[in-house]
Amino acid sequence: MPQSLGGVDELDNLALACHRCNERHYNFIVGIDPKTQEQVPLFNSRQQQWSDHFIWTKDGTKILGTTPIGRATCVRLDFNDERRDEPSIQTARRFWVEAGWHPPQSDPRQK
Ligand SMILES: [Zn+2]
Repeated sequence: MPQSLGGVDELDNLALACHRCNERHYNFIVGIDPKTQEQVPLFNSRQQQWSDHFIWTKDGTKILGTTPIGRATCVRLDFNDERRDEPSIQTARRFWVEAGWHPPQSDPRQK
């Protein structure tokens, strides 16, 4: 829960995030599932498992939401840079895949 919405500045209310995700998450706690147009809560890394809501594409360059929460979070945080002219994160992931660093072995991947 963001401080601006009444959350507290204590460890169990914080989540480690990279700059881009933190910036895009801003103080949003809900998003719109693009499949149903319903408003749903965003993924909460403190309470939910990543692998229950997301999967990597077969080539490892994109994150796909597999649930309403996953899909809404992909859109809200623009995980795949699809709102940008240049999907630079996909380019970076392609290099990481080639280097063998990505995606994490424990993450589910499209078959
Ligand atoms: Zn991030």
